[in-house]
Amino acid sequence: MKLLLVAEQIDGLVAGRTNELCAFADQLGAAPVMFMAGTSDQLPSARERLYLLESEGYAPDSHKEAILKTVAAERPDMVVFLHSSYGWDLAPRVACALKADCVSGVAGYRDNKLIVPAYNRKLNREVELSTSCMVLTLQPGAFSAEMRKCEPAEIIPVDVEVESSIEFLGYEPGDENSVDLDKAEVIVAAGRGVMNDDSLPRIQELAARLGGEHAATRPVVDANDVEHCRQIGITGQSIRPTVYIACGISGAVEHSAGASSSKYIIAVNTDPDAPIREIADVLVVADANKFLPLLLEKI
Ligand SMILES: Cc1cc2nc3c(=O)[nH]c(=O)nc-3n(C[C@H](O)[C@H](O)[C@H](O)COP(=O)(O)OP(=O)(O)OC[C@H]3O[C@@H](n4cnc5c(N)ncnc54)[C@H](O)[C@@H]3O)c2cc1C
Repeated sequence: MKLLLVAEQIDGLVAGRTNELCAFADQLGAAPVMFMAGTSDQLPSARERLYLLESEGYAPDSHKEAILKTVAAERPDMVVFLHSSYGWDLAPRVACALKADCVSGVAGYRDNKLIVPAYNRKLNREVELSTSCMVLTLQPGAFSAEMRKCEPAEIIPVDVEVESSIEFLGYEPGDENSVDLDKAEVIVAAGRGVMNDDSLPRIQELAARLGGEHAATRPVVDANDVEHCRQIGITGQSIRPTVYIACGISGAVEHSAGASSSKYIIAVNTDPDAPIREIADVLVVADANKFLPLLLEKI
């Protein structure tokens, strides 16, 4: 099986999650070739061949055409994107042009089938691989792996001449007060389980004392208790700190997808069977309202 992995570059920097594409290929035991549109200043860690379209910014028409050219040259069984704003926009365009199946938000692979969450993760769909080319996007964090050292790949330039009807104006920086949780070494987060007690200020204090950032799940953000820039999950930020402390958080996949790349996860939950235990290294079965004051006392 052969995969075409579509790496991303924004403002000259390769997206950190590109290694997840390689991890997916490894899980399928597939031979990966890579495509990227961007500058050659920073290249992704590719295996074998990297098709490079020299391009600044996002130009959907030319990026699509360049991927189609690469598909024609390599004839992959799958074209694989990250489930990011880039992948959301480009994958359906490519699938449409190829008349290929488009499966978005793939979260697993088992017995030759793709696992795709449905109905707010209450069910999983199992999608069988077809023999024709398929286009996929991968859920963040679903296929994480340590970056493997690769031999420098052969770089194959791709040229396209496309008259685009879309003009790329540039990227706008987010709110300057926003917090880049991706850079924090320690993150302490609050979930609905601690929303209505005194835990929220304690979580903020704990994060500050540990030199980290505080964060929250979506219900806490929706209640306006914490700013949206601190939300962890698929509609918030993806994090990869050394230590993640999740307080009163059940571990719904929409949250865990953004948190599971943390190196060491400590969950505080009254429910010993809370799904967060699946990604936690340590589960403290306790009422956070009682546990946090004791922890703060010890630190
Ligand atoms: C399209 C979509 C996108 C979404 N995106 C996101 C996202 O980006 N981020 C996100 O977080 N969610 C997201 N969600 C929501 C997600 O599905 C969950 O509903 C949400 O993550 C649950 O948040 P929670 O864990 O805080 O609350 P709950 O699921 O209600 O869990 C609360 C937990 O607290 C525990 N608890 C209760 N009392 C205590 C106590 N005193 N001490 C300790 N533990 C206690 C309970 O046992 C429970 O496990 C999304 C949903 C959809 C449909």
